[in-house]
Amino acid sequence: MVIKSDSYARDIKEKDKKNNLHSWSAQGKLDPKVITGAEGIYFWDHTGKKYFDMSSQLVNVNIGHGNKKVINAIKEQADKLPFIGPSHAVDVRSELASRLLKIAPDNMGKVFFTTGGSDANENAIKIAKMFTGRNKVFSRYRSYHGATYGSANLTGEPRRFVSEPGIAGFVKFFDPYIYRSHFEFKSEKEASRYYLAQLREQIIYEGRESIAAIFLETVTGSNGIIIPPDGYLQGVREICDEFGILMVCDEVMAGFGRTGEWFACNHWGVSPDLITFAKGINCGYIPLGGVLVRKDIAEFFDHNTLMCGLTYSGHPIGCAAGIATLEVYEEEGLIENSKAMGKVLGEELEKLKTKHPSVGDVRYIGLFSAIELVKDKATKEPLVPYGQDTEKVMAGIIGNLRENCFSTYSHENIIIVAPPLTINKEEIKEAMAIMDKVIYEVDDMIK
Ligand code: PLP
Repeated sequence: MVIKSDSYARDIKEKDKKNNLHSWSAQGKLDPKVITGAEGIYFWDHTGKKYFDMSSQLVNVNIGHGNKKVINAIKEQADKLPFIGPSHAVDVRSELASRLLKIAPDNMGKVFFTTGGSDANENAIKIAKMFTGRNKVFSRYRSYHGATYGSANLTGEPRRFVSEPGIAGFVKFFDPYIYRSHFEFKSEKEASRYYLAQLREQIIYEGRESIAAIFLETVTGSNGIIIPPDGYLQGVREICDEFGILMVCDEVMAGFGRTGEWFACNHWGVSPDLITFAKGINCGYIPLGGVLVRKDIAEFFDHNTLMCGLTYSGHPIGCAAGIATLEVYEEEGLIENSKAMGKVLGEELEKLKTKHPSVGDVRYIGLFSAIELVKDKATKEPLVPYGQDTEKVMAGIIGNLRENCFSTYSHENIIIVAPPLTINKEEIKEAMAIMDKVIYEVDDMIK
């Protein structure tokens, strides 16, 4: 563990404040911790204070920090061939694509690599438009698909507003967010029927032959781990088939074992037409993302120009890290561990829900989970109003968790809990005891 002096940390912070702009924040009041290292499920600051990384940073460090196999693969590739342009064939790019196709749903034919999740979605929009010759794209309100212009227009939540007035033809529909639904459904199937009927009607009103694609996070991530009810994804698949619309599953966050399967769509046996991915492909050791493309869509581009391109598409170091990362998932049994530890985490979350008046709902699948905070369990009034946490209440709770060595982030009234897939039972219990303690203080706030 690297410990540094306070003056070292002060200097870094001063330079940071003077020179860096941080994402999604008013800069003035930021007070970032100076981090000097990370290992497994932990990272530590310059004083040596160690934090549980209970969000895997931005839900990307699935294999944990400091994995030597991936680091060595990066070093070896940097020695061998750090870069060659995307028009060339290179061993690591060919190999990673073929390994990805082995774990992907079997209707997938090829991969287009990008540098992250936003540009994966940008390119998926273009592929869908080129293949179908149609121009509209559907996506949901409670979604995040990225911050670049097109992906921000796909995004449904308030981070989209700065990119508005939006691009013409980007249409939003409602999520099957049962906890906040205006109706009491008797079953998940009934909820699915309702939301699917609404979607089908909206497609007809928008012009059934003008819609290229429906984008959905297979399991909604940042916007609250919204898990599709029984039959929902299968129903979207049927609607897409009926109208010749491409079904695009954004698995940037939900993919690579996060939900206890290689891809979240496996839970429901649904084969999308395109899958976008990033994060867990190499866990951010080097930026990488991409689009998995259905066989016949890939073949379409045998004789039609693929009007997509990025200087760093299929970056050799990113691909080498990707191959090593896929091996780590297999060798360390991380997909299975996600499933098994997800059960342990689920039990801890259910205890919180039973115990605390401020916990309205908990949702979990694999090691992908959320705690939804409310002012009142009966009315479900959110702890902070949607898009308007002007008092920074949630930032206060996240800060309190961090002071107690539990690092994560929140979105609206929801706390994300998504630790590295390497976590064990004892670590989950230890970390969730911190959450329990901090939520008692939230209970006091709502008295
Ligand atoms: N899609 C989803 C579901 C995401 O969660 C994210 C990022 O959090 C993105 C896309 C954008 O990915 P990136 O930040 O790598 O551009």
